[in-house]
Amino acid sequence: MISVRFLGTGGARFVVARQIRASGGMWFSFGEGAELTQIHVDPGPGALVRALSAVPPCDPPALDAIALSHKHLDHAGDVNAMIEAMTQGGWKKRGALLAPRDAFEGEPVIFPYAQRFVPVHHFLEERSGPYVVNDVEIRTSIRHHHGVETYGMHFSYRGTTVSYLPCGRFFEGLIEDYAAHRPDVLIVNVLRYRDSMNVDHLTFDEARAVIKGVAPKVAVMTHFGTRMLERDPDALARELEDELGLRVFAARDGWTLDATTEVAAVAGA
Ligand SMILES: [Zn+2]
Ligand SMILES: [Zn+2]
Repeated sequence: MISVRFLGTGGARFVVARQIRASGGMWFSFGEGAELTQIHVDPGPGALVRALSAVPPCDPPALDAIALSHKHLDHAGDVNAMIEAMTQGGWKKRGALLAPRDAFEGEPVIFPYAQRFVPVHHFLEERSGPYVVNDVEIRTSIRHHHGVETYGMHFSYRGTTVSYLPCGRFFEGLIEDYAAHRPDVLIVNVLRYRDSMNVDHLTFDEARAVIKGVAPKVAVMTHFGTRMLERDPDALARELEDELGLRVFAARDGWTLDATTEVAAVAGA
């Protein structure tokens, strides 16, 4: 049983600064009961508040790991607050941190005092792993073209793989690299709709090419900028679904993807 709860679906500075969409990242749950593993990915500004105010609430002291794809504010703004919540203010040293080295060192976004609350640190490198968190194996993607060190993550649990493709500029190697992991679910950050600005983010058309090339059973678009929101992400998801013949969702704040059920539905269809 794998689920992904979206505590935020906003990208781009303007959307995040105004909280047009929230920026709390994604809360992954693998398994249940005593076997449950929970990993919070990319806790941007407001992540702790979003986690606690969700219905039913997320339980930060039960987190097993916090993972950052990269150190930009919209992905890491609340990482220290989440570490304090996971470790009960540092009294209970527990859990794991996964992030590129530049999030820990130099001008660290994970404060050194907070790093010391967490016993396990995994410095993500390109195309590496598996980094193991209980029964979950995490492998990284090729390095994204995004200014700071940025890696996608492939989460594997009992034969199912959920891949997260964070921010970055399009290049051909991206498709090949993600396709090699044969993800059942592909979550893609689609910040831009279509524009000529030369920035380090995917446009909708580039996301379409990636989803088509990687060919997951289920694709989810998230991390939207203003232009994407103006274009109605739900309508764009339906357009892709018809065109590519796979299940496509546009994530919403507070929505939970039941990955196991969706993948089984596609496989059984
Ligand atoms: Zn970024
Ligand atoms: Zn971003």
